[in-house]
Amino acid sequence: MKIIVTGGAGFIGGNFVHHMVNKYPDYEIINLDLLTYAGNLETLKPVEDKPNYRFIKGDIADRAFIFELFEKEKPDMVVNFAAESHVDRSITDPESFVRTNVMGTTTLLDACRTYGIQRYHQVSTDEVYGDLPLDRPDLFFTEETPLHTSSPYSSSKASADLFVLAYQRTFGLPVTISRCSNNYGPYHFPEKLIPLIISRALADEDLPVYGTGENVRDWLHVSDHCEAIDLIIHEGRVGEVYNVGGHNERTNLEVVKTILRELDKPESLIKYVTDRPGHDRRYAIDPKKLETELGWKPKYNFDTGIRQTIQWYLDHEDWWKHIVNGEYQNYFDNMYGKR
Ligand code: NAD
Repeated sequence: MKIIVTGGAGFIGGNFVHHMVNKYPDYEIINLDLLTYAGNLETLKPVEDKPNYRFIKGDIADRAFIFELFEKEKPDMVVNFAAESHVDRSITDPESFVRTNVMGTTTLLDACRTYGIQRYHQVSTDEVYGDLPLDRPDLFFTEETPLHTSSPYSSSKASADLFVLAYQRTFGLPVTISRCSNNYGPYHFPEKLIPLIISRALADEDLPVYGTGENVRDWLHVSDHCEAIDLIIHEGRVGEVYNVGGHNERTNLEVVKTILRELDKPESLIKYVTDRPGHDRRYAIDPKKLETELGWKPKYNFDTGIRQTIQWYLDHEDWWKHIVNGEYQNYFDNMYGKR
C-alpha cells in the first residue's frame, strides 16, 4: 500500500505520518508538503530514517507537478491534510485559502480520477457546520447538520467537501470525509490557542483571549484523531462523512486557566483582546456514527490529555522556541500588538 499524506509537515498530518509509519511497516508513506510557515520538517525527525517513509516538497495546487507525481508514484491512497488552517489568517488573506483548500483539493481529486485510486480521504472540520448557541447544550453537530459557514477558512473547507462528494457522485471516485473538532497535542504550531498559551505563559507574557473567553470548543486529542482516520480509510464506507469528536467541551477561558494552574502561573497574565469578527460561539460534535459503525472510542479525556500535552511542550522547547522567534513573531505582533 502506497499512501500520499499531504500536509504531513503540519500538526495533525505530522502526527498521522508518525502513526502510520510506526503502525504499518509494510506500507509506503509519502509525505507531500509545501513547507509553508506552518510546515516543519523537525516534526518528522523521529521517522525520517525509517525505510517506509519519504518526504517530497510540493504544492497540491500545482496541477503539472501533481500529475507528474501521480504518473511516477501511482499511489493507492491519498489522505489530504494540506490546508491553510488558521481562521485569523483567512480574514486577512482569503484568497490563499481558496487556492490551497479548494483548488488544491480539486487538483488532487482530478489526479486521483485520472490515475485511479483505492481511497481518497479528505480531512475536514466541524467548522463547516457553523456554530451552536451557548445556551443550548443539548445541540450537537451530526453528519446531517446543514453546512453553514462563518469564516473564509470554513467556507473554503466546506467548498472542498462539496467537491469531494461531487467527485464520488459524478465520477464514482472512492472518497471519504472526516470532520473533526479542535485538536490538541504534540507538534501544534504556536499560533493556535493551547501551544500559544503554554509558550507565552512560560515566558510570563500576556495571554491574549478573544472577547470574554466564553466561546466553547470541543477538544480532541490528536492521537485519537489519527486512530479515527486510520479506521475510516480502511473500514469507512465510500461516499460517507464521519464526525470525529472527543466530548470534551471547554470554554476558551477554562482552557487558559487550566494551563495557568498546571504551570503555576498567575491569572493576571490574561489579557482580553477585541473579539475575532464573526467568531463562532460553540462547536460540539456528535461522533455516534463513527463509534457505532467503526467502533472508534477516544482514549483521552481532556484533563489527562492537557497535562501530557503541557509536559510535552516543557520537554520539547527546542521544537517550538525557534518558531516563536521568526516569521511567526512578526505575524503575532501585527495581530495582537508587540510584546
Ligand atoms: P497545519 O496548518 O498545522 O498544517 C498544514 C500543512 O499543510 C503545513 O505543513 C503546510 O506546509 C501544508 N500546506 C499548506 N499549503 C500547502 C499546499 N498548497 N501544498 C502542500 N502542502 C501545503 O494544519 P493542521 O492543524 O495540522 O490541520 C490539518 C488539516 O486538519 C487541515 O485540513 C485542517 O483544515 C483540518 N482540521 C484541523 C483542526 C485543528 O484543530 N488543527 C481541526 C479541524 C480540522
